[in-house]
Amino acid sequence: MAVTKPHRIWQSTHPITSRLKRHLSVMPSEFDLIRRHFTHPTHHTDLGVGDDAALLSPAPGMQLAVSTDMLVCGTHFLPDTDPRALGWKALAVNLSDLAAMGATPRWSFLALALPAADETWLSAFAQGFRECAAAFNVDLAGGDTTRGPLNLCVTVIGEVPLGTAITRGGARAGDDIWVTGQPGRAALGLAALRGEINMDEAAHHACVSALQRPQPRVAAGLALRGIASAMLDVSDGLLGDLRHILECSGVGATIDIAALPLAALLDDGITPERARAALCGGGDDYELAFTAPPARRDAIAALAARLDLAFTRIGTVTTERDTLLLREPDGRLTPAGCTGYDHFSHAPDR
Ligand code: ADP
Ligand code: MG
Repeated sequence: MAVTKPHRIWQSTHPITSRLKRHLSVMPSEFDLIRRHFTHPTHHTDLGVGDDAALLSPAPGMQLAVSTDMLVCGTHFLPDTDPRALGWKALAVNLSDLAAMGATPRWSFLALALPAADETWLSAFAQGFRECAAAFNVDLAGGDTTRGPLNLCVTVIGEVPLGTAITRGGARAGDDIWVTGQPGRAALGLAALRGEINMDEAAHHACVSALQRPQPRVAAGLALRGIASAMLDVSDGLLGDLRHILECSGVGATIDIAALPLAALLDDGITPERARAALCGGGDDYELAFTAPPARRDAIAALAARLDLAFTRIGTVTTERDTLLLREPDGRLTPAGCTGYDHFSHAPDR
């Protein structure tokens, strides 16, 4: 597809020194960059990168699920993050949102602000993005590329049979509460990178890859259609995110501390306090938290075996609206203090 629009964005609007001008004259144009790094073969797209808009045709009877997530340097990732891992993560965190709706990912759009046309960085970033797109059969159908402080914004579109998406609003009193995989590892990975904790090499690797290469639970999300009554992905901390389900569903919950999947974190050599804080309140996990009637326990066990993924039953939905209680191992009930990560009440230092 020929690109006919004039180059414009790749020229700085600020006064340019002659040295920078010489540098810019040998820099690849915005369109070279897009052609080289972001024009991939597509599978579900009628018209993709290169025109003014993409053309997409959802299959008959399907509803579109659309989600956008932004990754800001200094807020969501450390400035020296490996660009290939970042490319993976930028798409993966968005696919996690589609997984949480029970939608099949189809299309993605990538809007990038880059401080400079650093080809080495960009090529590694694009490789990571492409790897994630290939792993989950998602097309990159368009985007925008501009100069500015490093900022990545991805939009994803998925398909779900009309009326079958799993929202946050369907939890009923008496439902079980479940979480997939091993929440907590990503927060421990961040603490390890910051030098706040030491783990053995295998545990360090597992936690850092949970942080940098999260695995969106797409297969689990799809399989939970017809089983889960409400669902979301855990991006800001398990307990804080669970509150969103309670709020949307008009219910409460009791979480059984003894049932939380803490054992693997303790095996990694993490102290019980830190492990519990990471599991309950650490961000960036991208596991699925969902509710389901007790009658579906066998179906969920079968799913866990089929997907080779842990599903842990951690609590029960109650009738007391917006009340999140923790049942301590000694049976005491205490209100959950953990609220999860909130960008406007936490300093932007992650
Ligand atoms: P316009 O000026 O019409 O907005 P652009 O110059 O921004 O078009 O982009 C040209 C084409 O390249 C469009 O099809 C757009 O979707 C695509 N594109 C731009 N940046 C990216 C990117 N980072 N990833 C994927 N596609 C991109
Ligand atoms: Mg544009």
